Amino acid sequence: MIVVMRPTATQDEVEGVKRTVEEHGLEAFLSIGEERTVIGVVGSEIERVSHLGTLPGVEQVIRISSPYKLASSEHQVERTRVRVNGVELGLGQELVVMAGPCAVESREQLMETARCVKREGARVLRGGAFKPRTSPYSFQGLGLPALKLLHEAHDAYGLPVISEVVDPADVPAFEEHVDILQVGARNMHNFVLLKAVGQSRRPVLLKRGLSATIEEWLLAAEYILSAGNPNVILCERGIRTFETATRNTLDLSAVPVLRSRTHLPIVVDPSHGTGYRSLVGPMALAGAAVGADGLLIEVHPDPANARSDGDQSLSFEDFGALMDELRRLQFVRATEDERAPAATTAVPIAGDGIEEVRVRIDDLDARLVEMVQERAALALEVQRRRAPEAHGHDVRRERALLERAATGTTGPMSPVELTMVFDALLRASRSVQRRHARSVIEAEAASAGSGR
Ligand code: PEP
Ligand code: MN
Repeated sequence: MIVVMRPTATQDEVEGVKRTVEEHGLEAFLSIGEERTVIGVVGSEIERVSHLGTLPGVEQVIRISSPYKLASSEHQVERTRVRVNGVELGLGQELVVMAGPCAVESREQLMETARCVKREGARVLRGGAFKPRTSPYSFQGLGLPALKLLHEAHDAYGLPVISEVVDPADVPAFEEHVDILQVGARNMHNFVLLKAVGQSRRPVLLKRGLSATIEEWLLAAEYILSAGNPNVILCERGIRTFETATRNTLDLSAVPVLRSRTHLPIVVDPSHGTGYRSLVGPMALAGAAVGADGLLIEVHPDPANARSDGDQSLSFEDFGALMDELRRLQFVRATEDERAPAATTAVPIAGDGIEEVRVRIDDLDARLVEMVQERAALALEVQRRRAPEAHGHDVRRERALLERAATGTTGPMSPVELTMVFDALLRASRSVQRRHARSVIEAEAASAGSGR
């Protein structure tokens, strides 16, 4: 913290600030300039002197370190990974799609949706049991019976479930039935609730308040962390602005801003963030592109007749199309069934010693080197046939190749491993093309320079 004194501050006023700082167990470092004095304050409990601005002679107090500690990346450099029933969110993990109805309406509606979202590749099932509605006359959710239905859906489909808790007294029931506790936007400043979920052993997804700054949001997370729960996930769900074309303004810049300030995983909710079905897909892709660790999406079997948030809920078809797009862009990998490698093909080999197998491998390697060179020669040929400036590659074909590698083959190599191979191959090919393009450009420049 830096305390800037007024140019007119007296020696006594400067001493007064120094004394106050030291009385609170902190250190003060004076820097006496020609015009004014500046005092640096250091110590771990800087909050104790948050009133320095009110002392006589003080012009301004500037905070240097963040007011939140546990949530800050200054405090913890490694990014937090939240694990829940085999699903991991955070650094290095695949994008986690959480999907399901805004509100649980019936067993059929929930089970049907769970089945659909699971098949399409969602890894967490959402469903509101207690709905904090803006109007007291709107559907308030089924309450406890809905929690039990979520539990049933979890058992039937093996997906962890997330649901919003609105009352601290309900935390035990949530702990019994759901895997992730959601604190909704309207409750981001409900400190009693934050402390209650902070004492829970379940991970908490904390939504950004309707008009909360990023700092206020991180301070809300700090309540949960400081109460002892390290598994906090932040969820950007749009903020209130002057814009009325969308229900909220989805602040996607919050994702990289948070990334630089906190180690906590970040989820984007394009459903509440936009309010309109047609905008959910594009903003979900944008959320993935900007680096979110997960997406929270409302899906309903019959959006037109949903009891809450139908306008922003995706139909099963819409959700399927969005998941396809997320897979095509490789934010999400193939679903479990496709992912499981087929039974390894037995490769018939004469003899049964290790050496026989190694001979086969050496033989294959020799052929692979030739094939890789042949492929590079063809890539070079493509480059020769186009202008040297046009060394862009055909992204669509590259993507299709990587997608095929990730889904359509059988053998011991997993899609991730196969993707590594093809990724390297494509990169090397592009390097060959670029080198050629550069040499052509340089040759042209040289002949132009020599006056031709
Ligand atoms: C919800 O996700 O069900 C919800 C009510 O969202 P929010 O708190 O973001 O409005
Ligand atoms: Mn909703």
